[in-house]
Amino acid sequence: MATQHVQRMSRLMAKTLREDPADAETLSHKLLVRAGYVRRSSAGVWTWLPLGKRVLDNVSRVVREEMDAIGAQEVLLPALLPKEPYEVSGRWSEYGDLLFRLKDRKGADYLLGPTHEEIFTLVVKDQCTSYKDLPVMLYQIQTKYRDEARPRSGVLRGREFQMKDSYSFDVSDEGLAESYALHRAAYRRIFERLGLDHRIVSAVSGAMGGSASEEFLAPAAAGEDTFVDCPSCDYAANTEAVTFAAPAVDGAGHAPAQEIPTPDTPTIEALAAHLGVPASATLKNLLVKVDGEIVAVGVPGDREVDLGKLGEHLAPAVVELVTAEDFADRPDLVRGYVGPQGLDKVRYLADPRVAPGTSWVTGANKADTHARNVVCGRDFEVDRYLDVVVVEAGDPCPSCGAGLRLDRAIEIGHIFQLGRKYADAFGLDVLGREGKPVRVTMGSYGIGVSRAVAALAEQTADERGLCWPAEVAPADVHVVAAGKAVPLALAESAAEALSASGLRVLLDDRAGLSPGVKLTDAELIGVPWILVAGRRSGDGVVELQHRPTGTREELTLDEALARLT
Ligand code: ATP
Ligand code: MG
Ligand code: MG
Ligand code: MG
Repeated sequence: MATQHVQRMSRLMAKTLREDPADAETLSHKLLVRAGYVRRSSAGVWTWLPLGKRVLDNVSRVVREEMDAIGAQEVLLPALLPKEPYEVSGRWSEYGDLLFRLKDRKGADYLLGPTHEEIFTLVVKDQCTSYKDLPVMLYQIQTKYRDEARPRSGVLRGREFQMKDSYSFDVSDEGLAESYALHRAAYRRIFERLGLDHRIVSAVSGAMGGSASEEFLAPAAAGEDTFVDCPSCDYAANTEAVTFAAPAVDGAGHAPAQEIPTPDTPTIEALAAHLGVPASATLKNLLVKVDGEIVAVGVPGDREVDLGKLGEHLAPAVVELVTAEDFADRPDLVRGYVGPQGLDKVRYLADPRVAPGTSWVTGANKADTHARNVVCGRDFEVDRYLDVVVVEAGDPCPSCGAGLRLDRAIEIGHIFQLGRKYADAFGLDVLGREGKPVRVTMGSYGIGVSRAVAALAEQTADERGLCWPAEVAPADVHVVAAGKAVPLALAESAAEALSASGLRVLLDDRAGLSPGVKLTDAELIGVPWILVAGRRSGDGVVELQHRPTGTREELTLDEALARLT
């Protein structure tokens, strides 16, 4: 193996911190900053320092190897994109505030790419003319931009972040199914190699469009997603998708929908006044009970809410989540304010446990107006369930009826069978076997590369610090010179021997720091093996620590080298 460069801590750009950053709430955010992996540049925008960049590159390398292994070809598309293709697909407006938009000097509109379905479709339209050119799978590892409403948790939710996005192009549905299956299997291998505990769950397709989609979720308390899985069958779904999968209500035998003025149902402004919060408070379309009364609170367009914060805003009112019981004897009681969309675009609560045929009172598209007898599925489509997680642990599994488990997780990957949505929008055809044009069918597949770094930190860190799996660690061995002169000389020769045998070595050669401080830093940084040259250096004895298990052993340097190489 090639000799590796020894990274000396005395030269390393990584200042470790004893204190958690004040704004950090999640473990990965705290530790990645404290251990000197990343630094905040602006809200949701991060600088990757040398240690962080190494981990990020390791994740990218694994992703790249597995994408190459299924025959996907790497490309690099621009992040700076013209508006027009996104107008053709409808996403220039659909994405709303999530898009970073800018103008060039001539006044032409541009955006910073949040995901690239449109542009890849155009590339293939330009390059492929015959069915013989397909199937093709293309991918890139690239910086993406999304002006998230609430960038948080460090690199878990950035406004600028690294994504691996790939796209498959096939002439038949069977072909698409195959490309999708290849990606699904590659994703399993990627996350296994990275050491990320993960689940595959059914998901909703959202703004991406298309039919089937699945998410790869990494269970972690810091996750912003909630999923259910069944202990007795293989059912697993994001809670968003559990509701989505509810049978549509046909509304047969129910009165037609009717708009009614409902002065008792407040607008956001009136409700905010009633609740004593500014209308700009960080609330959204959310059904809650305030002092026992079910109300909807929120600011249209703001799709996220933090219930804990909501509670603070609403104090001293008693705020509770609406549960199934609240609906049981009040079938008329689902009501609330919905943004400026028309009734056909209402995105609102659809609780699968509300009995079929229930008439609803829901938000209408006029201020101070509500609609009575609206039947979900008849009068409007619920295209995405946004607001309240009404699925609870123990709820019956839609597939077998057993009690569901419920957990928090981080979305690390998402795969979509897009079908012909983008091919239709851009007229992507190839000449088929019979000489007639055939419309192409597509899949798209994302992995949050930078998010995966934070997800790994969440899953593997302990009270002493980060603790990387070998595949992604910024080094293989962290050699600590716990003392001057003899210990330092022994540490130097250990580092040299390890790097000569191909291991990546971090050498703590810093002067003027106590062994205690160096060891605390080593544990914080989280390299899998820590080799300490200390008190017994005179006898050529070192201590070898295994960071994940904490086991320590005194060995001669030769024994330690034999153990590690
Ligand atoms: P989320 O639900 O967390 O907002 P998403 O569903 O909007 O994610 P996708 O459009 O499915 O994200 O993008 C593919 C992948 O990119 C996601 O599975 C996730 O791992 C990653 N990703 C998305 N948004 C961010 C972000 N703001 N910061 C870091 N990674 C992200
Ligand atoms: Mg998102
Ligand atoms: Mg998502
Ligand atoms: Mg997603």
